[in-house]
Amino acid sequence: MDGFIEKLGIRSVNQGISAGQHYMGSTGSLLTSYSPVDGSQIARVYLADADGLDTVVRKAEEAFLQWRTWPAPKRGDIVRQIGNKLREFKLPLAKLVSYEMGKSLQEGLGEVQEMIDICDFATGLSRQLCGVTMQSERPGHRMYEQWHPLGPTAIITAFNFPVSVWSWNAMIAWVCGNTAIWKPSEKAPLCAVACQNLVAGVFAENHVPEGVSCLLTGGRELGERIAREPRIPLVSATGSTAMGRSVGAAVASRLGRSILELGGNNAVIISKEADLELAIRASVFGAVGTAGQRCTSTRRLIIHEAIYENFKEKLITAYRQLKIGDPLEEENHVGPLIDKKAVDNYLEAIEACKQQGGTFVVEGGVLQGEAFKSGCYVKPCVAEVAPQMPIVQRETFAPILYIMKYSSIEEAIALQNGVPQGLSSALITLNIREMELFFSSSGSDCGIANINMGTSGAEIGGAFGGEKATGGGRESGSDAWKNYMRRQTNTINWSESLPLAQGIVFGV
Ligand code: NAD
Repeated sequence: MDGFIEKLGIRSVNQGISAGQHYMGSTGSLLTSYSPVDGSQIARVYLADADGLDTVVRKAEEAFLQWRTWPAPKRGDIVRQIGNKLREFKLPLAKLVSYEMGKSLQEGLGEVQEMIDICDFATGLSRQLCGVTMQSERPGHRMYEQWHPLGPTAIITAFNFPVSVWSWNAMIAWVCGNTAIWKPSEKAPLCAVACQNLVAGVFAENHVPEGVSCLLTGGRELGERIAREPRIPLVSATGSTAMGRSVGAAVASRLGRSILELGGNNAVIISKEADLELAIRASVFGAVGTAGQRCTSTRRLIIHEAIYENFKEKLITAYRQLKIGDPLEEENHVGPLIDKKAVDNYLEAIEACKQQGGTFVVEGGVLQGEAFKSGCYVKPCVAEVAPQMPIVQRETFAPILYIMKYSSIEEAIALQNGVPQGLSSALITLNIREMELFFSSSGSDCGIANINMGTSGAEIGGAFGGEKATGGGRESGSDAWKNYMRRQTNTINWSESLPLAQGIVFGV
């Protein structure tokens, strides 16, 4: 430990933390955060209740009235400064991500880099929130559309990307002129406090109204309250499909807008014409990176029958070389799962897989000993399965990889699409026909489709999200910003008459 928590401006971690001037939801009761790396208690953070939510929403509404009048490029400049602050604090923040969530330091650094990238993207975007001009059917009329901010935006995030998913939403929401209320995962609250502190400093220097950035810490119940809150026009929620079903229904019932980023069950198809070395690297990183706790983790490999045995042997060899341990140590490839509940889910899935007829070619298990004293370290494992087994259809948030055979590319695509989720997909091939089929309307049904790479590791420049049980939301790059704004069509009559649309005559 080299004082990275203190470097982020956080003091008295065990006495209870409130997150700087923009945090207004404290109840007096405390949430404890434990590190899966060594089991230590690392922080106690004040929980928000219904009154806290009410205070925060009022503050966010008041702040919105001012913030929406600031020119978007000015808001963009403030987001640019947040990007610079993140550059300055990249290492301590990445270490905190690694320590509180358990991903490797390299992945923690990557996550903070993603935040920096979205700040740069949002800064540019602040000058490009463009509408189009249409041709009017009436003489002497001009018609165009413009985009306005919505109001307070709630951002509910999952534990596995404890900082970047918030930033994908918040940076875009802010340049669009919205205020942001963040409810982070109850499993990684200290990361949220650290981000809030960094933002609070930048906002104070720029005299940003209090309430543009708010943090509410709490669990499911608080999330449910947020979903029902009619003063929040947009809820962006990232997490399990079960959570999304609940949030989506609650927000829809009050005719609010939601962006749902939910679970995946991502597959890589390995063609007989694949570069096998590349396929092995892509598959192993996709399956064991973040200990299989990415929404885009590779859960299934669909392998051509002609290379199946050869590829399986290569996979077993690669798995033997994996080093499991403290994610802050550079030589380790795989860190812990988030908590003991996640370990139980992993063990249950292995048991279910065996009972449903799966055969493990790389065995799983929980690691014991002083280096693994948190009880959260598990072995990445590989099972040969039949595609329709119920366990294969489900997302288990752990490093369990299912492998299966195919004989034609059409069959492989059908297997890949034949699960409830639709987030990320990949095909490894050097055959252009297979490639084009995979990208065609008869190809992958996922929000993300890759060739000659794995399923995980998206760039912020694209719109991120998936179909079916993944929720259909899109956030981050491309034109995802439109989800954070309302569209208005404007028509101006500059003629001296009043022609009606569709040629209607109204003779008064
Ligand atoms: P989770 O669903 O348990 O919790 C996610 C967040 O939702 C937390 O903040 C939690 O407090 C809140 N929450 C839970 N139930 C709620 C409810 N009924 N109403 C309102 N809020 C509720 O998920 P998790 O274990 O933190 O994260 C893992 C899941 O997230 C996986 O399924 C993973 O695939 C998914 N995920 C998806 C994406 C994506 O972009 N598609 C990204 C990251 C994680």
